[in-house]
Amino acid sequence: MHAQHFRGGVHPPDYKVFSRSVPISVVPAPNKVRVPLAQHLGVPAQALVKKGDRVCVGQPIGACVGFVSAAVHAPVAGTVTATPDVNLHTNRVVPGIEIENDTSDTLFAGVAPVTTVDRAAIIKAVQAAGIVGLGGATFPSHVKLQPPADKKISTLIINAAECEPFLTCDYRLVLEDGERVVRGAALMMTALDVHACIIAIEDNKPDAAQHLRALLGARADMRVATLPTHYPQGGEKQLICALTGREVPSGGLPMDVGCVVHNVGTAAAVTDAVERGMPLIERIVTVSGDAVERPGNYRVRLGTPIRAVLAAAGCDIERCAKVVIGGPMTGATATDLDAPVIKGTSGILAFSAAWVNADQPRPCIRCGRCGTVCPIGLQPTQLEALANLRDVNALQAQYAADCIECGCCAYICPARRALVQGIRYGKAQITALRKAVKN
Ligand code: SF4
Ligand code: SF4
Repeated sequence: MHAQHFRGGVHPPDYKVFSRSVPISVVPAPNKVRVPLAQHLGVPAQALVKKGDRVCVGQPIGACVGFVSAAVHAPVAGTVTATPDVNLHTNRVVPGIEIENDTSDTLFAGVAPVTTVDRAAIIKAVQAAGIVGLGGATFPSHVKLQPPADKKISTLIINAAECEPFLTCDYRLVLEDGERVVRGAALMMTALDVHACIIAIEDNKPDAAQHLRALLGARADMRVATLPTHYPQGGEKQLICALTGREVPSGGLPMDVGCVVHNVGTAAAVTDAVERGMPLIERIVTVSGDAVERPGNYRVRLGTPIRAVLAAAGCDIERCAKVVIGGPMTGATATDLDAPVIKGTSGILAFSAAWVNADQPRPCIRCGRCGTVCPIGLQPTQLEALANLRDVNALQAQYAADCIECGCCAYICPARRALVQGIRYGKAQITALRKAVKN
């Protein structure tokens, strides 16, 4: 099958060579973890423990509140020493639970496999396990497995594209633990009651694609699709367009065109939740960048300080001019290295000054390149100007809310304008207006 091409996009150097051939290793659980109760999109979890409580690995410490929310679990066994406000890497402060690790790794007695595996049981297990989109979006996965009755889903897409430069955590997961991905995909097919699944991967990872094909064998209901390496191929809308030719409408969701998209890491987490009853307490993080001595992929307990992960990878923090959390296109500069690794932390990239672009933004020269590369067909330079003018009506009329914050416009801009930050500011204005209208 030939993939269709989505519009726009860019070809940044992928820099995956630093970490792609290194097997996943483990960062030891730290003496103390600080686990935020808001690591996902939606309502923060509600604390279930208090200072002085003893907890075991996998024990719920935060309850899922409402439909769009996610439970939070103890990543280590030990004693709750505080319920502090936790500073995230973005400088957002959220409530959290601090646990002193007794290093026993005692497993919570409630961790048990699902006995009767049917649609309802899978969804319940995914919700109980606190699984969210591990590609970085952190949308609660149980919600995506329960589309409204009027949305007929025909295709589950498992996203292994990993189009962000530097990141290789999905690639290593597929190579080292592909069976867990395939079993999780099959479980999600049951949950969604669909009979077609496509595992999508970019053509710069032929060994991973071949491995997945071998794992699928003669299965007729699942297949692997290789897509051209082209950023942002891993965006949900771009993936759907490339695989099915369907366009998600403005303001719409993948389910509006019969698709549900989940990340490969999410699929593996679903397997753990159903087959072992194991909640999401750790994730694979790509640690890379020129300031890292041992770039690679590391299995990290949630709540581990970013600083500890960098140290485990041999990073000399004194040499770091910048640490980016996530990939360089969509990630955020870390404002606090003591902030914890959370469910959406796909990468920790540390750079020396030699790799950091110190150019200041200059006036727009109206070259039009930002509009040419925008995969949504927006006019980024106009949106930036409207955001600065706080013209919310015009921002809405120009479909600013459809921006996927892929960063293509900022990447291509010769004037180094901070277009994504400007548009994000504009989107926040739209959200605030919509909230005000609702209330
Ligand atoms: S306007 Fe938004 S969607 Fe378009 S290129 Fe910029 S960040 Fe990407
Ligand atoms: S790419 Fe930069 S300089 Fe060119 S039109 Fe867009 S904002 Fe202006």
